[in-house]
Amino acid sequence: MPNILVVGSLNADLVVRTPRFPNPGETISGDDLQVIPGGKGANQAVAAARLGSNVSMLGRVGKDNFGNFLLENLKSNNVNSQLVQFDDASTGTAIIVVDENGQNSIVLSAGANSKVSPSDVEHASFSDFDLLLLQLEIPTPSVLSAIKLAKEKGVRVILNPAPAKELPHELTSLADFVIPNETELSLLTKTEVKDIPTAEIAGKLLLDHGTQNVIVTLGSNGALIVTQELTRHIPPFKVDVVDTTAAGDAFIGGFATALLQNKELEDAVRYGCATGALATTKFGAQPSLPTLDEVEKLIS
Ligand code: ADP
Repeated sequence: MPNILVVGSLNADLVVRTPRFPNPGETISGDDLQVIPGGKGANQAVAAARLGSNVSMLGRVGKDNFGNFLLENLKSNNVNSQLVQFDDASTGTAIIVVDENGQNSIVLSAGANSKVSPSDVEHASFSDFDLLLLQLEIPTPSVLSAIKLAKEKGVRVILNPAPAKELPHELTSLADFVIPNETELSLLTKTEVKDIPTAEIAGKLLLDHGTQNVIVTLGSNGALIVTQELTRHIPPFKVDVVDTTAAGDAFIGGFATALLQNKELEDAVRYGCATGALATTKFGAQPSLPTLDEVEKLIS
């Protein structure tokens, strides 16, 4: 069976619901704390593994309780964690306050994620893998190092340029698939992206700089494929939305799984859309990632 390597972040999401956000200097009471496994890298690894993919994760966690919790969580989701190292820095943490309107306010502490180095990446045996998944919650030089090593070994690469950041064209042009949301594409191309026509224009700018395939995720509007050969809109699946956290990560896990099953590009994007849509129907990051049965049922 083909193998996926995810090089990226692992975070503990500390979530508290409150009636409203506190003012500076103010103390307010919230509900019970929830500690939820997250981080874009780990989310995408778990998303793909739940759909039956063979997944390994490379990254760093702290030598603390959250680090152990995140490693155990990878194991219980059948993600190989042999390439996750313990670091002296604290485990990456997202401190999330959710108000009664469902609005988020987040403080991200990158911690051990910021210590993932190019030499960590060089220790991985890229020829063991068929597909590499990358995001931007680890240092950009490490992302660049991973993409170069993967390409040297003929491994296909999906780059999810999230969270939004400007990037050198060298990076985006090496990836086989660049999968941004509208905000990320806007920042990458320095153009406004607000609907399907503007997403197409911006996607083509990335193609002009050498990217082979761009897939723009459009939230409740589905996704847009922009390649040299075609531009195609894939409509969304209709679902009852509870919380959109990790929808993009679910999309990537679903798309990657379908790609390795040799599905056609449009079918793989449809599979990603179904996975992303289902992730919006439950609260939290990894608890919301759907199973193979749930995705197959929505698609059929
Ligand atoms: P991100 O979480 O990175 O911002 P998106 O919001 O674009 O990513 O969501 C990723 C994918 O999940 C979309 O391409 C879409 O297919 C699906 N999705 C997200 N929100 C919804 C929604 N409200 N209804 C249906 N599908 C959704």
